[in-house]
Amino acid sequence: MRYGLIGEKLGHSYSKIIHEKLADYRYDLIPLNQEEFDKFMTAREFTAINVTIPYKQRVIPYLDELHSTARAVGAVNTIVNRGGKLTGYNTDFYGFEYMIQKNAIPINGRTCFILGNGGAAKAVLAVLKHLQAGEILIVSRTPSKGTISYEECRLRHSDAKIIVNTTPVGMYPNTNGSPLDLTPFKNCEAVLDLIYNPLHTKLTLQAKELGIQSVNGLLMLVAQAKQAAEYFLAQEFDDAVIEPIYQELLSGFL
Ligand code: NAP
Repeated sequence: MRYGLIGEKLGHSYSKIIHEKLADYRYDLIPLNQEEFDKFMTAREFTAINVTIPYKQRVIPYLDELHSTARAVGAVNTIVNRGGKLTGYNTDFYGFEYMIQKNAIPINGRTCFILGNGGAAKAVLAVLKHLQAGEILIVSRTPSKGTISYEECRLRHSDAKIIVNTTPVGMYPNTNGSPLDLTPFKNCEAVLDLIYNPLHTKLTLQAKELGIQSVNGLLMLVAQAKQAAEYFLAQEFDDAVIEPIYQELLSGFL
């Protein structure tokens, strides 16, 4: 196997479609349980791969080196095998920053919530810091040092301006769920949902109803794949490749 994606459940993935539009390699979807994951990473029989839930952090001990962004984020979603030596990258950082910039979301000085505390939350946190957000609060179901509860965010931080959903709540097929009721957040300026299936989640639909700018995760998905393909092929692509693929996927949803 040369190029592809590893993760636990990949039935929902659009990565094959996106990568095969970006470049002319074949891209395989490889679902792995924990035992298979260990064997796969130990064998190193691939040229370059992407990594998704739940292996973005678990993959780090198998690598020989980490690119600076992956080190700063603490999670890896792209690995390149050069002569048996594995280097880990994080392209979610680029994808999330691209999503923010394309949608002109103001971050500087704003209080931001990150809902969920998994792999994607780490990339989101690094980007929000990089864009000089004000206070950044990570909201978790099991709050510990550095995170707050959903109750605390409602009761004590209703002035939040930017809300980013990095939980899977609202994702297909459980589209009826929402991680947070937006009603108390009267000063909220934008809701960014990393979910792209469905395109409009219960959370982003509520944002729209309340007149809050909302963005889904589809553009981030295409942008992070573009940077991953650059690492795979050691070749730069123009950002202009992102938009037509994004539009084509978007039309498939409509
Ligand atoms: P993950 O590592 O499993 O983390 C998700 C976090 O969400 C968990 O750590 C958990 O935090 C919280 N969570 C999980 N189930 C929940 C529930 N039922 N209710 C409330 N909170 C829950 O996954 P991930 O890699 O960060 O990905 C998260 C989401 O982002 C997925 O939907 C994924 O598809 C999406 N994503 C999109 C892109 C893109 O390009 N658009 C890129 C990466 C990820 P607590 O236990 O602390 O509450």
